[in-house]
Amino acid sequence: MDFSLNENQLMYVETVRKFVKNEITPDILKMEKAHKFPWGIISKAWELGILNLCVPETIKGYEIDVISSALIIEELSYGDTGISTSAMCNDLANAVIAQHGTTEQKEKFLRPFAEQPILASFCLTEPGAGSDNYSMTSFIAKRDDDTYILNGSKCFITNASYASQFTVFCKVGKPTSNFMACVIVPVDPVTAADIPDIGHETREINVPTGGKIIIGKPEEKLGQLLSNTASVTFEDVVIPKSHIIGDRRFGFKYVVDVLDYARPMVAAIGVGLAKRALAVTIDYTKERKQFGERICDLPVARDTITGMWKKVELAEMALLKAACKVQEKSKDRGIYASLAKNTAAEAAIYCATQGLHLHGGYGFTAEYEISKLARDSHIIDIYEGVREVQDMIIGRELV
Ligand SMILES: Cc1cc2nc3c(=O)[nH]c(=O)nc-3n(C[C@H](O)[C@H](O)[C@H](O)COP(=O)(O)OP(=O)(O)OC[C@H]3O[C@@H](n4cnc5c(N)ncnc54)[C@H](O)[C@@H]3O)c2cc1C
Repeated sequence: MDFSLNENQLMYVETVRKFVKNEITPDILKMEKAHKFPWGIISKAWELGILNLCVPETIKGYEIDVISSALIIEELSYGDTGISTSAMCNDLANAVIAQHGTTEQKEKFLRPFAEQPILASFCLTEPGAGSDNYSMTSFIAKRDDDTYILNGSKCFITNASYASQFTVFCKVGKPTSNFMACVIVPVDPVTAADIPDIGHETREINVPTGGKIIIGKPEEKLGQLLSNTASVTFEDVVIPKSHIIGDRRFGFKYVVDVLDYARPMVAAIGVGLAKRALAVTIDYTKERKQFGERICDLPVARDTITGMWKKVELAEMALLKAACKVQEKSKDRGIYASLAKNTAAEAAIYCATQGLHLHGGYGFTAEYEISKLARDSHIIDIYEGVREVQDMIIGRELV
């Protein structure tokens, strides 16, 4: 077993680390307070080539392996997990096209992402279908001309207010169908110049093939204020047959394939956040003195810092194992993806909570980054499947 990173992987880590240090960390609290969509950072990340990690070489000209992808997301998340969530969402939405699309579909639906910094949304969750996404009711119905009509509502959709393409999971024929499909809905591309910041506005889109998409006002969230989250309603959206990915009955299998790839990426978000919480806490406790000593030298406080480091290291190991399993397309990659996600979420929440505690009253103020990290940490335990769902997957495989 070899834990060392190869030259390419080291190059990615170094590049993103430098980018985060120069472009994100110095102003992160100001950016978060201003609450403006971080198009500038997204565009620079695109120029650097660290967006659209899952887009294949045939389209992008180079391929980024799964371990490098996880490392890139971890480093970006060290800067801000709202930004990395928004960036990673392109892969969440586009992985199914990369995995199961035809050559023509890859060309049509992935090429635009290689050509300019635009965003995609992954539309799975519905108001009545969260953890139990099979109970979704959005559906496509066939028309006489061999096209389909999509109707239904999704909620909590990342990037929705700015998305240029929607990957949508829906039932086939009727809301109660046993079959689920995956369809792609491209719309007129949106760049920073088109919608610099949506504010509290809704967005109405006339879909080029026919029908409408209504995006709700962005959600007001506890954390990850630099990512955009909104509801998406499809009204009589026309879906040509060529916009259906793979077999229109196998959508549920495709969701599982995407999440096996994407859960280690969420784990990377958690590890990045946990590392940042540990770093700012070590810095703070080395500066602040009480009882005549630096806080980091007080034995019980030192124990807490040690505990934080252990969580970070264990989470990173689980992440790398999962990334290796996904890279190798190993049959048991699913349980390692779930393990990595839960371990990283636990590390993120633990490190942010304990780190805040070690900052004392100062940690409870908006002036210190640890308070933001604490707010941001909770979602890692929730999106892409809550902790209990990951445990359910692991348990099911074990017995
Ligand atoms: C900021 C943000 C961004 C998101 N981005 C996206 C996105 O881009 N695309 C998308 O499709 N979705 C997205 N989501 C949705 C997210 O994936 C769901 O919120 C999540 O899967 C949980 O679904 P739910 O909120 O309906 O919770 P519920 O399913 O209602 O669960 C609530 C709680 O019930 C308990 N529970 C649920 N199931 C079980 C079980 N089987 N056993 C035991 N206990 C259980 C857990 O404690 C759980 O936390 C996002 C959500 C947020 C908040």
